[in-house]
Amino acid sequence: MTTTDKLQKALLIWFDKNQRDLPWRHRYEPYQIWISEIMAQQTQMDRVVEYHNRWMNSFPDILTLAKSSEDQVLKCWEGLGYYSRARNIYKTAKLLIDKHNATLPKNITTLLSLPGVGPYTAGAIASIAYEKDVAVVDANIERIFSRLFNIDLIPGSPEAKREYWQKAEALLPKGESRNFNQALMELGALVCRPKQPNCSVCPVSEHCIALQHDLISVRPIPKKSTKTIPVNMATGVLMHKGLLFIQQRLADDVWGSLWEFPGGRMKEDETAEKTVIREYMEETELAVRVDAKITTTIHHYTRYKVTLHCYFVSLKQDESDPVLHAAQEFHWIPFEQIDQYAFPAGHRKLIEFMNANKLA
Ligand code: SF4
Repeated sequence: MTTTDKLQKALLIWFDKNQRDLPWRHRYEPYQIWISEIMAQQTQMDRVVEYHNRWMNSFPDILTLAKSSEDQVLKCWEGLGYYSRARNIYKTAKLLIDKHNATLPKNITTLLSLPGVGPYTAGAIASIAYEKDVAVVDANIERIFSRLFNIDLIPGSPEAKREYWQKAEALLPKGESRNFNQALMELGALVCRPKQPNCSVCPVSEHCIALQHDLISVRPIPKKSTKTIPVNMATGVLMHKGLLFIQQRLADDVWGSLWEFPGGRMKEDETAEKTVIREYMEETELAVRVDAKITTTIHHYTRYKVTLHCYFVSLKQDESDPVLHAAQEFHWIPFEQIDQYAFPAGHRKLIEFMNANKLA
């Protein structure tokens, strides 16, 4: 038996005994696999399961999804972040109805032509849903390979990517791609974790070169730490005649098509109150006054730590028709309807604060 044979066998047996009971593993339905793979990018598995269940209740199949509104889709995704993923799923659902008979394609090239589907997702759908002999490489698999084969290439470099894909293709057992690819992903999630891998229960430990040479702490090669960038922002909650003003961001913006209260980045030497007044004028041409501080929320977005100063504001004049410069639509709504709309994380925290303190 070659080393490759031994690795394949050990991983398949381990997966058979140790795989988690995840909802999309019950029937391996391609639509469910696709949604789970997109959700799992940059998201913890327990959250993926929660959102996946909610998603399947709202959009049980591709046709229902394609017939829903983008607002409904974004609302269902609210809190998962990286909203372009949800918009791409929605675009793809429409495309699948128009061109692919409401079915996910099996062919890798066609899968790669779908919005938001890269080599990893295409490989995952082809192998896990359709059992095609296609390899996959994600961050978990890169980490395992860098340790198992002691690969000292810079993570993310073209050489490293090429090496990992070659290893994945060479290791893939024919006819076993569904379980084998999942075995690697599962091993990375449960055993060969980024910090403190549990080598004592690892099914491939006897082949692991980094373990043999005590190099696990430097495989993969540690990335240079990226600094957190602080960002100060301010926003205003405008109530007028018992209704709340909200606007929908432009589709191609960060957090595109999500709803928000007007506001923006504080300029140097500008107070948060002044930012709110300026942003209202620039974004809506509404002249507002700041009435009271509500709260300050903090949230993290990629490398940014965003501090959001939140105020109640009111109109200076009775003119309540905005001219939109940074949004595609606006609504005046009763506060009770606010949960029907999807907001970015900082604004959602503000809404939760107002709800908890009965401020609106
Ligand atoms: Fe990862 Fe440890 Fe297994 Fe090597 S022995 S693959 S470092 S868990």
